[in-house]
Amino acid sequence: MTESWPRLAALAAAAVVLLTPPATRAAEPQIELWDGQRAMAHIADLLQFTPRSMGEPGHQKTIDYIKAAMAKSAADAVLTQSFTAKADDGKAIPLTNIIARFQIQNPRRVIVATHYDSIIKAYRDPKSPDAPMPGANNSASAVALLLETARVLSLSPKLDVGIDMIFFDGEEGPKSLGAGDPAWRALGSPHFAAHLKDYYPSRKPEKAVDFDMVCDKDLKLQPEPSSLTSALPEVKKFWSIGSRIAPSAFSPEPTTFPISDDHTALQAAGIPSFLVIDFDYEPYFNTTQDTIEQCSAQSLESVGRTLLRYLYAP
Ligand SMILES: [Zn+2]
Repeated sequence: MTESWPRLAALAAAAVVLLTPPATRAAEPQIELWDGQRAMAHIADLLQFTPRSMGEPGHQKTIDYIKAAMAKSAADAVLTQSFTAKADDGKAIPLTNIIARFQIQNPRRVIVATHYDSIIKAYRDPKSPDAPMPGANNSASAVALLLETARVLSLSPKLDVGIDMIFFDGEEGPKSLGAGDPAWRALGSPHFAAHLKDYYPSRKPEKAVDFDMVCDKDLKLQPEPSSLTSALPEVKKFWSIGSRIAPSAFSPEPTTFPISDDHTALQAAGIPSFLVIDFDYEPYFNTTQDTIEQCSAQSLESVGRTLLRYLYAP
């Protein structure tokens, strides 16, 4: 008899364990829903609009395409922020940032960003430096990344934070030449950062992640120094999730140089922000060879699935 009491007690304890529902766990996304082939199809669509640079017909077509895709998502609002920037020759350039807001009533905001404008000509091409730059990786890849993420978010459990997906215009600068213009400066993200109060009247976004050049078959993502300064815990979190999903694509070794992109203006506005980029894209970077042949669905999935899990991580 004496022995049976503890045994009964143990059984009762086991029953309690079995009957007690598990403590509330954070919602988990089904990351397998994130489909690299769908992202590749977006890249193919966007390449039909090349050059997607300001002042070109393909620029407006790209805006329309992004808006139409986001209208099919669970975004509560798809807004445009239109403004003009001054080109170096004094000419006014019309620009448009696109902002898709998920769970618009949630005061906790997280920015997921990229740029959608493309380099106007393949200035680094040894044979045809004046030919159009297709821009499959720079910049269609990250636009595709956000569009596919928006689709999967719409099928996923509710997040604890509200996401603002921002498609910046004018990242390639007033000449649409990016690094090919020695006086390069991004246009769209600094304008957005200067008007933060229009979108965040009471409270700044908690953080921002910016994507660029994420489809390379030979994907290698390294943290970038300004991101480590601005958002170290977030970089660590993103890379730790990524290295579990796609070990070969995520290197913990930072680049030896800082990289300026749209996260730079957000950092300067006091938002912890980091960049996810595979900057080693030789010999295709800003040449006529930046085509869909250099991209892989698997690389896109590695980044997209990491982003999805990151957004749900506490
Ligand atoms: Zn870019």
